[in-house]
Formats: sequence, C-alpha cells, structure tokens
Amino acid sequence: MERITMSKAQEFLGKEIKIGAWVTNKRSSGKIAFLQLRDGDYYFQGIVLKNEVEPEVFETAKGLTQETSIMLTGVVQEDTRSKLGYELLVKDIEVLGESHDYPITPKEHGTEFLMDHRHLWLRSSKQHAILKIRNEIIRATYEFFNKEGFMKVDPPILTGSAPEGTTELFHTEYFDQEAYLSQSGQLYMEAAAMAFGKVFSFGPTFRAEKSKTRRHLIEFWMMEPEMAFMHQDESLEVQEQYVAYLIQSVLDNCDYYLDVLERDKEVLKKYTQLPYDRISYDDAIELLHKNDFTDITWGDDFGSPHETFIAEQSDRPVFILNYPKAIKPFYMKEHPDRDDVVLCADLIAPEGYGEIIGGSEREVNYDKLSQQIENFGLSLEDYEWYLDLRRYGSVPHSGFGLGLERTVTWISGTEHIRESTAFPRLLNRLYP
Ligand code: ATP
Ligand code: MG
Ligand code: MG
Ligand code: MG
Repeated sequence: MERITMSKAQEFLGKEIKIGAWVTNKRSSGKIAFLQLRDGDYYFQGIVLKNEVEPEVFETAKGLTQETSIMLTGVVQEDTRSKLGYELLVKDIEVLGESHDYPITPKEHGTEFLMDHRHLWLRSSKQHAILKIRNEIIRATYEFFNKEGFMKVDPPILTGSAPEGTTELFHTEYFDQEAYLSQSGQLYMEAAAMAFGKVFSFGPTFRAEKSKTRRHLIEFWMMEPEMAFMHQDESLEVQEQYVAYLIQSVLDNCDYYLDVLERDKEVLKKYTQLPYDRISYDDAIELLHKNDFTDITWGDDFGSPHETFIAEQSDRPVFILNYPKAIKPFYMKEHPDRDDVVLCADLIAPEGYGEIIGGSEREVNYDKLSQQIENFGLSLEDYEWYLDLRRYGSVPHSGFGLGLERTVTWISGTEHIRESTAFPRLLNRLYP
C-alpha cells in the first residue's frame, strides 16, 4: 500500500492508500465522524463510518483534537462538494503525535498574537496558500530566466561598500573591518553581466527601514537580472514579459490556492496582457497636479497615494519612466537629451500594491560615473573595482530588481507583506 498526499488523489481514486495528516477540525455523531485534515499539500475531509471500522478506530476518531498528527489508511473517493474534489474513506487511524490546547483556534485572533505564533500560524489554510503561491513564483522565475538564456550568479551578502548610501544599512563586524549586509546585489551583477552576458541573482537583501508600512520588510528577497548590450526600452520588455509569465504560471498551477484566497482570477488574467502602459515621470506629476494632489512637486519621489492614483489610470501594471536624477541612485544613466532625469523606470502594480520593480540603464561613461559617485558623497576608492567595469570593455547594459514578497502580496491579493514570507523580519519583530 502506497503512502501518498492528496495531490495524487486522482491517480489513486478508488484505491486503498496511507496518508500522513494533521487534524484541523472534527465533527462526529453516533454513526459518523467527519475529520477535517491537512497533509501539507491540501485541506481535505476524512470520513469514518462506525459500522465499517473496528470499534477502537471509531473511538480514536471521536477523540481526535486539533493538530493531532495521524497516519490514516483509507480509500480515496470523489467529493464533488469540496474544492479539492476528493476525500478519504477512513479504514484505520494511527495517532503519531498528540496535541492539546492548540493556541490557534477557529475563533478570530489579533495580528500580534498570530505573529507571536507564526511557527504555528503557517499551518492555516490562508497562510499555506500564500506561501504555496510564493513557491510557484520562485519556480516560475527560475524557469523564465533559464528559458531566456540567463545565468544565475550569487552576489555576496556581506559587503564592504554601500551602493545607495548607508542610512538603511545593517552594520556588522568583519574581523577588524566594518561590513554591511547587502541591500542590493546590483553592482556585483554588473560585473557578472560583463563576464557572462545575461545574468540574474535571487537572494535575500536587508534594509533597516524605520517606517512601518504594509509594503516594507527588513529582510526580503530580490530578483536582480542584469543584461549586457541591452538598452532600457529592451529591459522594459523583459520586465513585462517576466511579470506576465509569473501571473500566468500562478493561474495555471495555483488554481486551488487562488480559490482559498478568493482571489479574482479574471482580474489576474488582465495582467497577462502586454504591453503595459508607460508614462513619464513628468507626465505623472502633471497628471497628479490636474487631479488636486498639491502635496507633490517635480523632484519629489512618489508616495503610496500617488503611485496608487497613477496605477488606477490603467487596468494593468504601469511603468513610470525617467525620474529626476537627484532621487535615484548614482549608477543610473543620464537621459541623452537632458541632464536632470535618468533612464529608469519603476513598475507600479495595480490595486494599491505599489512599486514591484525598480530598474534602469546603467551609466557607462567613466567621467560621468565617477563624477556621480562624488556628487553622492561616496568614496571613489570604495568603487575602484566598479569603475574597472567602465575601464575595460564597457558596453551598454540595463537591469532591474523585483521584490519577491511585494509580488507575492500583490498576486495573492494579501493585505500585508508580512504574510508573504514564512518568518517575516519587521521593525519590531525578530521572533520567532
Ligand atoms: P520603495 O519605494 O517601495 O521603498 P525602493 O525604491 O526603495 O522601494 P528598490 O531599491 O528599487 O526599492 O528595490 C527594488 C524592489 O525591491 C522594489 O521595487 C520592491 O519590489 C522591493 N523592495 C524594496 N524595498 C523593500 C522592502 N523594504 N520590503 C520588501 N520589498 C522591498
Ligand atoms: Mg525604499
Ligand atoms: Mg521606490
Ligand atoms: Mg525603486
């Protein structure tokens, strides 16, 4: 007899199998016990009929408590009323681990309580569905970039210099030197692009974000492709194709989990239609002014209400192009026709989810780049290795960074980014 999970239910329809599971809930009458179960893949029902099992099996079933772990023997059968479409007709139950007074009950709990019990909260169907969607986004990311001929390169997490100023950086000791935790692998990925052509990195980044928003984590994962011989307009095409690919993959492979989350799939389908609209920073500012946003002037970065309003002009994500040079990092390429804006874009997600991607063409002019490093108050000495990339066979190149948890939050339709990673690090939370 094979041990399966319910992901294989269809294959084993009508057959007797073993299945390891946890009890999420139970209801029993004199003759029948309904067990609500989860096996790590799906949530499903087990039915125990008093007249068809040994008396002690029915007694065990009646005594099961929330989160008791069990090994079941039973027959897979159809259950047209459930999301999954299958249930288990139970023949035997072996208790593996008892569970008493499980803290997360079916009643409502406050967020802080749930966050204190994050290690257990992960078992609930909503958290489970969000993290299954995250997993699909990771899988589809590797698939997309491998298919497009990118090579994965891993930039260091411990670094000696800070690409975008030091205010949001975590410091740490590095023997007798000072080091920082990486807030972006970008500069290293430029070196990798000059060696390997098209590259991507995918790993953790750290920012000491002192604000509490529903979009910022302290530790988050970033996907950072860098492409030699590519200008910004070509990079935008890669970006929108990648995002549409992620959404299509989730639609194709996470139907059950989208239903658990009650995510509107018709809305998601629209996001797979390309191209996405493009609007310049200048036009975005003008649009905001026409619509009575008096709290922003040319030269400011957008706040979340601004991004939300601009994104509402389309039914899909929107690129905002060519921001003022002064509010973007030093390495972005100056616009060929004017020196006050750079060749960059942010991709803004609909429904108020904000910036998903930030990207740009990189400055390759040696003199302009070293001037910019100085203008930003950074030390030329720290960037000697980076300037070498311009000294030796520099080519036009572009890249971008997509925040994994932002994207998961948006695609899954979750309210707060803290639910898009298993163990979120937040301003006031380092436990569990
Ligand atoms: P924001 O304007 O939202 O603070 P940013 O412009 O500082 O973002 P970038 O440096 O452009 O962010 O990083 C690229 C991407 O990484 C962002 O588009 C976003 O998806 C993600 N990201 C940035 N900061 C965070 C964070 N603190 N938590 C989660 N994701 C983040
Ligand atoms: Mg930021
Ligand atoms: Mg931003
Ligand atoms: Mg950005």
